[in-house]
Amino acid sequence: MADIDISAPALSAAAQAFVNRRKHQLFIDGQWVDALSSVTFETRDPATGAVIGEVARAAAEDVDLAVSAARKAFDAGPWRTMTPMERSGTLNKIADLMEANIDELAELETLDQGKPLHVGRWAEIPGAIAQFRYFAGLALAIEGRTIPTSINYQPEGKEIFAYTLKQPVGVVGAIVPWNSPLVLTVMKLAPALAAGCTIVLKPAEDTSLTAVRLVELMVEAGLPDGVINLVTGFGSEAGARLAEHPQVNKIAFTGSTNTGRAILEASKSNLKRVTLELGGKSPVIVMPDADIAAAAAGSANAIFFNGGQVCVAGSRLYAHSSVFDKVVEGVVEAAGNMVMGHGLNPATQLGPLVSKKHAATVAGYIEDGLNAGATVLCGGETMGANESFVQPTVLTDVKADMNVVREEIFGPVLVATPFDDIDEVLTAANDSNFGLAAGIWTEGLSNAMRLANRLQAGTVWINSHLMFDAALPIGGTKQSGFGRDSGQAALDNYLELKTVCAVV
Ligand code: NAD
Repeated sequence: MADIDISAPALSAAAQAFVNRRKHQLFIDGQWVDALSSVTFETRDPATGAVIGEVARAAAEDVDLAVSAARKAFDAGPWRTMTPMERSGTLNKIADLMEANIDELAELETLDQGKPLHVGRWAEIPGAIAQFRYFAGLALAIEGRTIPTSINYQPEGKEIFAYTLKQPVGVVGAIVPWNSPLVLTVMKLAPALAAGCTIVLKPAEDTSLTAVRLVELMVEAGLPDGVINLVTGFGSEAGARLAEHPQVNKIAFTGSTNTGRAILEASKSNLKRVTLELGGKSPVIVMPDADIAAAAAGSANAIFFNGGQVCVAGSRLYAHSSVFDKVVEGVVEAAGNMVMGHGLNPATQLGPLVSKKHAATVAGYIEDGLNAGATVLCGGETMGANESFVQPTVLTDVKADMNVVREEIFGPVLVATPFDDIDEVLTAANDSNFGLAAGIWTEGLSNAMRLANRLQAGTVWINSHLMFDAALPIGGTKQSGFGRDSGQAALDNYLELKTVCAVV
C-alpha cells in the first residue's frame, strides 16, 4: 500500500470546541435529547479513521416523536401562519448566522466528510447560504392566480369567481446523503421553510456533524419549536420509519437510486408526495472544435472534484477521435498534478473518500473494469493509513456494457471512449439508465444547441461543468429521479395547489 501524508493543521477554536463536546444529540420539539434507547454511534475522520464524536442513533420511536412535534408545529402554527415577510426574515437570519460561522462549518464538514477545505469554504457553504437568501426572496412571492371560467351553470344574478391558492404541503421528511451534506440539506430545508412547512431532517450516518451545527444556528435565528427536528441515525431505522410515517406529507430525498426505490415503496403507506434526487453517470462530450486545453481541464474537474463523490460528476468522457489522445493526455496530466492529503491541509486538492468502506467499493469497480479488459492510464491505487484515498483514475478500452461504464462509481474514476460522429456520441451518451447531467465542449453554437436538445439529462453544461446556482433547477430524468431542487421549481415541491370556485 503506497503511503500518503495525512497530517493536518489544528482546528480553529470554534471547531475544536464543537468536537470537544464529543456527544451529539437529537433535536425534537425545541429540545436536544438523547435517543430513547440512549444508543449512539461513532463518527470518524475518514482521512485518519479517528473517532471524532458519538452521535445519537434514532430509532422508529424517536422518529415518531419528531414527526409528532413537526405535525403539532405545522397544525398549530405559528410558522405556517406568519406573514411571508416574517418567514423571509428568519431565513435571511439563518443565512447571516451561517456566514458568521462559515469557517467553523467548513472545518466540521471537512473533518466529517473528508472534502478539501476550500470546497466547503468557497463553494458548497456559500452555495448553502445563497439557498437561504434565494428562498427568503421567493417566500415573499408565493401567489395563486385568478382564473376566468366557462362553466355552463350560471346562477341568475350571481357571478362565478375562481382562484388558486398555494399552501404548504405540511410535514416534510428530508433525507440526505453524505457527499455534500450541508448544501444538499439546505437545498431541501430552505424551500420547505419558505413554503411554511415543518421538517424532520435525517442526515446520512457518515456525516451528521454539520447538520447538528446547522440546527443550532436555525434555533438561534428564532425558528419556533417543532419547525425543525433532527433525527441522526441509520437509513434502515430512522430513514425507513420517516419514509413510511403516515403523518409525514412529503419526503424530499437525495441519495442513491436503490434507496430512492425503497422510499417510493414506503411512501405508499399514505401516498405522501415524494421528490427523488438520485444517482448519475453523466457524459462529457468533447467535439473536435473544442478549446482542447479547457476541455481537458474541465473534464478532469468534472470527475475529480470532491473525489468524484458528486451526483452530477462527469464520469463518462466521449472525445472525438481526432482529439481523443490530446484530451485524455490533459486529463491524465491534471490527475498526476493533484495533491492528495487531509482535507484540512490547505494544499489538498483530493481528500479521502467518505469512508474506508466506500473506498473499497470504488477500488472494487476499478478491479472489475480491469478484469473486463479496460486499460488504466493513471491511478487505480488505494492509499493512506485508513485506506480511504483512491488515486484519480482514468480507464480506456472500455465497452458500453461494462459495469464501470454503466454503474455509478461515485469516486474519482473516469472512463474514456473516442467517437467519430454526432449521432454515434448521442446514442452512447444516452445509453444509460441515468439522466442527471451532461457536459458539452465545443466552440460551435450549432453542435452545442443540437446536443443540448437531444441529451437525456436534467442539466446540460456547455463549455463548463458543475456550475450551480440557487436559481438554477437541478434534478434528474430516467432513473436519476424526479422533481427539482433549486430555482422556482423547487418551491412548488413544498406547496399544494388549491382551487377555489365561488358563486358570489
Ligand atoms: P444512500 O441512498 O445510501 O443514502 C442517502 C440517505 O438515505 C442517507 O441519509 C441514508 O441513511 C438514507 N437511507 C438509506 N436507506 C434508507 C431507507 N431504506 N429508507 C430511508 N432512508 C434511507 O446514498 P448515499 O450513499 O448516502 O449518497 C450517494 C448517492 O446520492 C449517490 O447515488 C449520488 O448520486 C446521490 N446523490 C444525488 C444527488 C442529486 O441531486 N441527484 C446529489 C447528491 C448525491
